[in-house]
Amino acid sequence: MRAEIICIGSELLLGDIADTNTQYLAQRLSALGIDLYYSTSVGDNLERLLDCLRRAIDRSDLVLTTGGLGPTDDDVTRDAIAHLLGETPVVDDILADELQRFFRLRGMEMSTNNLKQATLIPSARPIRNTYGTAPGWWVTDGGHSIVAMPGPPGELRHMWETEVEPHLFDGDSIIQSRTLKLFDISESRVDELLKPLTSSANPTVAVYAKQDGIYVRITTKAASLKAALRAIAPVERQTRRILGAYIWGADDDTQESTVAAELLKRGLTIAVGETITGGSLTAMLSSAAESHIWFRGSLVLPADAARRTSAPALARQVATQFQPDLAIGICGTILPESDPPMGEVTIAILGPGSGTLTTATHRIRRHRLRTIGSYYALHELRGALVHAKNRNSATGYERSIREAT
Ligand code: AMP
Ligand code: MG
Repeated sequence: MRAEIICIGSELLLGDIADTNTQYLAQRLSALGIDLYYSTSVGDNLERLLDCLRRAIDRSDLVLTTGGLGPTDDDVTRDAIAHLLGETPVVDDILADELQRFFRLRGMEMSTNNLKQATLIPSARPIRNTYGTAPGWWVTDGGHSIVAMPGPPGELRHMWETEVEPHLFDGDSIIQSRTLKLFDISESRVDELLKPLTSSANPTVAVYAKQDGIYVRITTKAASLKAALRAIAPVERQTRRILGAYIWGADDDTQESTVAAELLKRGLTIAVGETITGGSLTAMLSSAAESHIWFRGSLVLPADAARRTSAPALARQVATQFQPDLAIGICGTILPESDPPMGEVTIAILGPGSGTLTTATHRIRRHRLRTIGSYYALHELRGALVHAKNRNSATGYERSIREAT
């Protein structure tokens, strides 16, 4: 299958906003093993959009558009598709009702130009938009499809993930994927180690770098869910065999959710002391599941406090103040005259009853100290927790001191 993307919006061509929709869709398509040959940005202009659509439908099986589905006159995507197919948009009663109901729920008057968002042509079926007012259009014309989706990135992503991707191969097969999440290893190293797997066509294995680590996404197209899971399982096993030491979660897991789960499982509580990360570790932990049960409190000091304190001292300080089972301190410094600019974070974890102390130091690019520093703290915490026994155990946990760079 050959796909092509058209992003619609004059703001894209004026440089007012970055085109994140193309990046997102391109990643999704590549993970599905769908070839993407062209991507175009075009302004809110009927003639030029029609021109782009004509070319796209000629050379691609699947044309994805984003933007131009709003209620105002400069939103021309529906008109352009209707022109292309020689069809006339008419208001669909069910869509109009849904739109009315939404406005009533918000206690707002619906203006008549909103009805434009409730129109359809005979070749289009509506795509549900739970996050906004503009439904998408799924248009089929011969063997080709145009999927028109809204411009706001949140709406686009939700629609793609819930309404479009799962139905892309309807009729003949389903798409299923599994994402394994890794940390403390580079994208290129993962790619190198997984070489034999990443060249396979089904399941496809794609590696990409995210803020919280490296993701390995295994995707398969199969006749049924059972067949899909059967195809994914051996590839997942192989990936785990090769990279198991770096894998911290899968699918919807976040680093903080995995730490929360480990703390809950063991009945342990935690307190945090931060300097260089400026509260971002606290923000992540305190918004994780059931944090009222296991999160005792935190102390956030200015970045330069590292001159007067240290990670172990901070851990001791919050251990005394909040009386948790585990106390974590994180401090950092900028490395002078490093090129590229680098910094260093030290993470100290004080075990139950202040019995054991482990520290680890990591070097990180200076501009990412705050975010990556927090992720390293979660990474170290997870490591400590895997070795920690339950609260009732007398021995606490033991872990060798690791100096990492
Ligand atoms: P629209 O569906 O054209 O009304 O899009 C509304 C909003 O979506 C725009 O104002 C942008 O903020 C956002 N948007 C549209 N296209 C893109 C894109 N390609 N990437 C990121 N944001 C976009
Ligand atoms: Mg627009």
